Amino acid sequence: MADTNGVNRRSLPELLKGLQCPRCGRVDTYEVREIDFTERVAGDTVTVRVLAGVCTNCGEELLDDAATEAITAAVNRLKAGDVASLARTGSAYRFP
Ligand SMILES: [Zn+2]
Repeated sequence: MADTNGVNRRSLPELLKGLQCPRCGRVDTYEVREIDFTERVAGDTVTVRVLAGVCTNCGEELLDDAATEAITAAVNRLKAGDVASLARTGSAYRFP
C-alpha cells in the first residue's frame, strides 16, 4: 500500500523553503506541484502521480521521501509482474 501521509516528516513546503536549486543555483524558487513521474523498468515504464518540488526557474524536480517511496512501490510491483494493481496507459513502440 502506498503511504502518502508524512505525519512524522517535514512537509514538502518546509523542505523547499529557502532551498538552493542544485541545477540553476537560484534560491527559494521551488514550489509544490503535482507531477507525473515516469520510471523505466526494463522495456516498460510506470508513471506515478506525486507531489514534488519543482524549480520555477529551470524545472528541476525534487522528490521527497513520500514521493520516492510511492515510485519505488510502483517499480517493485512492475518488477514483480504485479500489473493487475497498475493501470495500463498505452503501449510503447520503437521504429524501426
Ligand atoms: Zn532551478
